[in-house]
Amino acid sequence: MRVLLAASEVYPFSKTGGLADMTAGLTKALARLGHEAVVVSPFYRCARKSSQLPELEPWGPPLRIPLDGYTVEGRALRGRLAARITICFIEQPGFFDRPGLYDEIGAGRRAPYPDNAERFIFFSKAVARLAREGPERMDVVHTHDWQTGLVPLLVRHETLRPGWIGAPRTVHTIHNLAYQGLEAAWKYALTNLPPYYFHPDGAEFYGKLSLLKAGIAFADAVTTVSPGYAREILNPEFGMGLEGALRARGSVLRGILNGVDTEMWKTRGNPHLPFGYDARRLEGKARVKRALQAELGLREADVPLFGTVSRLELQKGIDLALEVLPWLTGRGAQYALLGSGDPELAARARELAGKFPGRFAFVEGYNEPLAHRIEAGADFYLMPSRFEPCGLNQMYSLRYGTPPVVRAVGGLNDAVVDAAEDPKRANGFKFGPSEAEALRGALERALGLWRDPEALRQYRIRGMRADFSWRRAAREYAALYRELLGR
Ligand code: ADP
Repeated sequence: MRVLLAASEVYPFSKTGGLADMTAGLTKALARLGHEAVVVSPFYRCARKSSQLPELEPWGPPLRIPLDGYTVEGRALRGRLAARITICFIEQPGFFDRPGLYDEIGAGRRAPYPDNAERFIFFSKAVARLAREGPERMDVVHTHDWQTGLVPLLVRHETLRPGWIGAPRTVHTIHNLAYQGLEAAWKYALTNLPPYYFHPDGAEFYGKLSLLKAGIAFADAVTTVSPGYAREILNPEFGMGLEGALRARGSVLRGILNGVDTEMWKTRGNPHLPFGYDARRLEGKARVKRALQAELGLREADVPLFGTVSRLELQKGIDLALEVLPWLTGRGAQYALLGSGDPELAARARELAGKFPGRFAFVEGYNEPLAHRIEAGADFYLMPSRFEPCGLNQMYSLRYGTPPVVRAVGGLNDAVVDAAEDPKRANGFKFGPSEAEALRGALERALGLWRDPEALRQYRIRGMRADFSWRRAAREYAALYRELLGR
């Protein structure tokens, strides 16, 4: 199959979050499965400057894209990234040759660019143009988040115009419903589409233009980044106001758990780990733990060590972790927390670190090497998120043989198996309500496992053997594409 994958971020050319890793990881894995992938992304300043930019050549004639009453010119440039992978940049310097991807950054403040609607409607129209008039025929157009939400609608509308034989199927993936691309109603004119799509069953959300909703309403299939999140967003608690629109597409909505970069997150030959280990030889893990205790000023004792690497945000339930900390250290355990974000949470963590020296270490900041050592050196990984579309750290910790303790939501619920569900497959611990008491219950069970070394070893091994590769995820996407194509 030939897939046109359009996204506003592609690693290593542009990245603000997990979307960039996903588009890169999925593309590579699809190519390895034998599919042809063309990734389309804006030609931002950071992409222009990237040292990994391949040689580029114009792809097709210059783009002349209408935006309401005027026309914006641009170019599609393409280059080869690897066998079966083409990168295509949409060049429009006025829109994309800027310091940020979405936000103006100045004087410590962030504000979205005022013309984000123009920028990403232009980009979406360029993608739809390539899908129809590009030099190569595409089987599937796979778009992501609000920035390319308009593409499925544009493609749908184009198929109504005669002459498009073998039009591609469209898939739209939601990475986080918290970002919807809401714009003033008058910006709908920039789409040059007839007025009837601006409707509560289409691209309208309470009188505004919602670019994400256009994707949800008009894609042939809608996906999210975990099966659990796909179910949760049908309800008001997680649906962010779009639960109705999502329920209307329930029959074509599905969740596919993201993969992780298994080249980077590995326990052998990892430059960030002082010792290597694997599922058959776990001794190295205990040595990583002792080195970590020394590095963080924790008492070098044979006691259970919990770890967390996270943005310090309410979403991540860090407040709950800090609430149970005095109890946890009272039970003889240690806790290592690495993170940055909310100043109030950071202050509380600093205060607790002062109160529990040698038992609680808080490292404020963003530190990837240390993140690897905490994932590997801790005995258990703590991730009490309130909601989690996919979540990566629970998968890293499983790969590192560090059973996670998680709230049973979204991708956490999908990746972790609790003994209550299946004792033979158990690899971690889950709790239900976002409350300290529930979390303490799960931690108590983890402490129980600590006292049974052989059972703990089995948990570690099961986690390390689970398949969180992009290959698995790409297979599921390919199966979905085939289904849509009726093959
Ligand atoms: P989210 O994308 O919501 O922050 P995920 O679990 O999906 O949460 O991914 C977070 C990623 O960011 C992981 O790769 C994690 O290791 C990394 N990360 C978060 N905070 C830090 C930090 N302070 N230092 C190093 N890595 C961090």
